[in-house]
Amino acid sequence: MSIQEVSGEFAYIAENYKEIVNNVENAKAKYRSPEEKIQIMAVTKTVEPEKVNFAVSQGITLLGENRVQEYLSKKDSYSPEAQVHMIGHLQTNKVKYIINDVSMIQSVDSFKLATEINRLALKNNKTMDILVEVNVGSEDSKSGVPAAEALSLAEQISLLENVRIRGLMAIPPINCSEALFEKMQTLYEELSSKRLSGMSCDVLSMGMSGDYETAIKYGSNLIRIGTKLFGARKYLEV
Ligand SMILES: *Cc1c(COP(=O)(O)O)cnc(C)c1O
Repeated sequence: MSIQEVSGEFAYIAENYKEIVNNVENAKAKYRSPEEKIQIMAVTKTVEPEKVNFAVSQGITLLGENRVQEYLSKKDSYSPEAQVHMIGHLQTNKVKYIINDVSMIQSVDSFKLATEINRLALKNNKTMDILVEVNVGSEDSKSGVPAAEALSLAEQISLLENVRIRGLMAIPPINCSEALFEKMQTLYEELSSKRLSGMSCDVLSMGMSGDYETAIKYGSNLIRIGTKLFGARKYLEV
């Protein structure tokens, strides 16, 4: 195997990606079994399409977008090789702008939102994959359904024919106890064991730049990385 040197102004992204892949492999060796697949998503908020496309050229196949407006302004510049998931809070009236462009909506936290996704999916002749977002740290500032209501919301959503539940998403609070990661793991196992109609539960989306190794320890199979891949973001988020 030859080691390819990457040069140019985006070389740091290639370096960062290699380091993340390496850390994921180590965490997997420590906590998980070798045959399990852990997807690395590049979180692209505030990041220019040129950088995003460079990350795709290095092997990233999944992008995460937070804001509909920003996504619409960038999507035509994105390399078509990567899939896009919506991971930010989504207003019901904006589903129509993304229904044909994203392959999953990870931030579903109400039946109202799921119903609108279902309506537009049906209209566009498709089934939309979704995750139920759980506010596992019960933080006022975060979206997501309370952990205690996640399974009943999933049961309700499973009755919608053009929405397919693929699992759960969470943003555990910064520096929180590992117990919250474990709580998500337990919730995910409970959901998987439910065998709801049309559900195919295979995604636990948890872990960001600061906590992805902990997330992998507790069963995450999709980590969402922004800062550790692209560097610090240039402007503040809402
Ligand atoms: C910004 C964001 C991330 C990535 O956060 P980093 O700490 O920069 O890796 C992951 N998930 C969601 C939902 C985000 O909004």
